[in-house]
Amino acid sequence: MLPFTRPTLDAEEFEAIKEVLQSGWLATGPKVAAFEAALADYIGGDVQLRVFNSGTSALEAVLLAYGIGPGDEVIVPAMSFVASANVIVRCGATPKFVDVDLVSRNIDAAAVEAAITPNTKAVIPVHFAGRAVDMDAIYQLAELHNLLVLEDAAQAIGTQYQGRRIGSAGNPVCFSFHPNKNMTTIEGGALVISDPVLLKKIEAIRFHGIERDEQGGMDVTAWGGKMNMPDVGAALGLVQLKKLDGFNLKRRALARRYLQQLPKHDALVLPADVEGHSWHMFCILLDWEKIGLSRNQALEALKQQAIAAGIHYPAMHLFSLYRQYGYKPGDFPNAERIGEQTLTLPLFPGMEGKDVDRVCSAVISLLNGSY
Ligand SMILES: *Cc1c(COP(=O)(O)O)cnc(C)c1O
Repeated sequence: MLPFTRPTLDAEEFEAIKEVLQSGWLATGPKVAAFEAALADYIGGDVQLRVFNSGTSALEAVLLAYGIGPGDEVIVPAMSFVASANVIVRCGATPKFVDVDLVSRNIDAAAVEAAITPNTKAVIPVHFAGRAVDMDAIYQLAELHNLLVLEDAAQAIGTQYQGRRIGSAGNPVCFSFHPNKNMTTIEGGALVISDPVLLKKIEAIRFHGIERDEQGGMDVTAWGGKMNMPDVGAALGLVQLKKLDGFNLKRRALARRYLQQLPKHDALVLPADVEGHSWHMFCILLDWEKIGLSRNQALEALKQQAIAAGIHYPAMHLFSLYRQYGYKPGDFPNAERIGEQTLTLPLFPGMEGKDVDRVCSAVISLLNGSY
């Protein structure tokens, strides 16, 4: 069975983890410090970087540190993994969904602008599947309306925007190292930021609210959680980070092979190859009505050919939790169409060209009704 993704691990990763297990220190320690330094160096731009036990924790910590809470509205795309919206609820604030572009799956400044109210405090652009959001226009808008911009780059480690790595510009940006992402620490995440005052708050939120003075004395002045990364994860991350650019090059080559082989067809919408894309996923849209097949039937037909496609994602505003905020079908036509028509084709560095060829034949037979 060809899965839609699989982490790329070899003896070097196993050895790195074994070394930590044998060291007697498994929790946050020297490997975390080394991983934070290496990641900051990789991102560039002189930013401060801290790692977390998940990408979700990193997003939460930023919103909490900024004091986003009840009465505040936070703009977020209706098409993302549900963590992007859940962190807003976690802070007691209100998610304000906006629609996305059908091809890029990303939000744009016009959609954000239309959703701004006097209560809007922040916007969370999501770099969907590793494709950078057009950030310039969003930053201009945010400055005009005094909004926090928190980039959800969970799917975009290694993505470039205008020739710079996502995360290098100084605003808060969060990454995830879940095993499905472009590199992994098992569970884990990271945050980059340049504001030293907020960084101090975020560090306290990450670990029990603990603040240390020069003498090592400890005080707690505000609530903090438990969001730190263990050294085992960081040791894995140090090895994966060295390989990340190679992984992403391989992803790009595989994505290009898909784009070359999949046909132009009026029931098929393909993603676009743009500069700096890190190809976290290769998501297509299939018009089930036009091809006379339900998605479940298509998934089953692919499974018969030993191909496990994925679904990323159902539109978030239609989940029961978010319907409680008054959202309903018809609110965001593109996000809903993506939610219904999307299929994630296998894409990971361990794949070969012939795997892509096999998946393309299977998709073509779905389009032709000859599965
Ligand atoms: C994976 C993901 C997250 C959450 O990251 P975790 O490390 O799993 O907590 C958040 N947002 C998006 C868009 C993601 O894909």
